Amino acid sequence: MARLLLVEDETALRRSMTKGLEEEGHEVLTAVSGDEAVLISTREPLDCIILDLLLPDGDGITALKQMRAAGLTRPVLIVTARDSIEDRITGLDSGADDYLIKPFAFAELLARLRALLRRNFAPGETVLRYDNLELDLLARTVRRGGEEIVLTRRQFELLEYLMQHLNQIVSRDLIARDVWKASTATWTNVIDVQVNQLRKRLERDSWKTILHTVRGSGYKLGDPP
Ligand code: CA
Repeated sequence: MARLLLVEDETALRRSMTKGLEEEGHEVLTAVSGDEAVLISTREPLDCIILDLLLPDGDGITALKQMRAAGLTRPVLIVTARDSIEDRITGLDSGADDYLIKPFAFAELLARLRALLRRNFAPGETVLRYDNLELDLLARTVRRGGEEIVLTRRQFELLEYLMQHLNQIVSRDLIARDVWKASTATWTNVIDVQVNQLRKRLERDSWKTILHTVRGSGYKLGDPP
């Protein structure tokens, strides 16, 4: 199951795609304009974005560039009626990961989506980095400033989750669901304790603070909120 942002201004298509994706078990957030997409992408942890290029407030490519500039690292699948080679190259150059031409078979969309979601764990992209922090997904090791940081399995999973949602605020509910695979009510205190322990292991006085508590919202790994 993935948490997706579907950016599509055509109501009927947006509804049918949302329904189909939800039937596949995905959680689907929707946006009907580029501005709305950029706003959501900076506020919500997402696994993948499905982006229409012809939007009422302009070109989806502009929105894509803004999302990438704001630190979005998750895959973006462009879905568009425009099928010229030039548009395809522009899209990929602007930070899209794949391209699907309308009209498309829904099964094709699902296949592309599966490939993109898998790609997050593909060889060659197995080290997540931010500032002087490195998390190696294969070796299951964490280094900061070249120094190895020993974490428990749960702390490692928590850090991996925060790094995969770099510069996004993640709520305790989402951490409970995705890291603990549990409902939040019983886990809130445990999550706070684990985040504090993780923070103690990650931070040194001479290093930049990277794990932030966002009052009333949750936690954020990355630049100060
Ligand atoms: Ca459109």
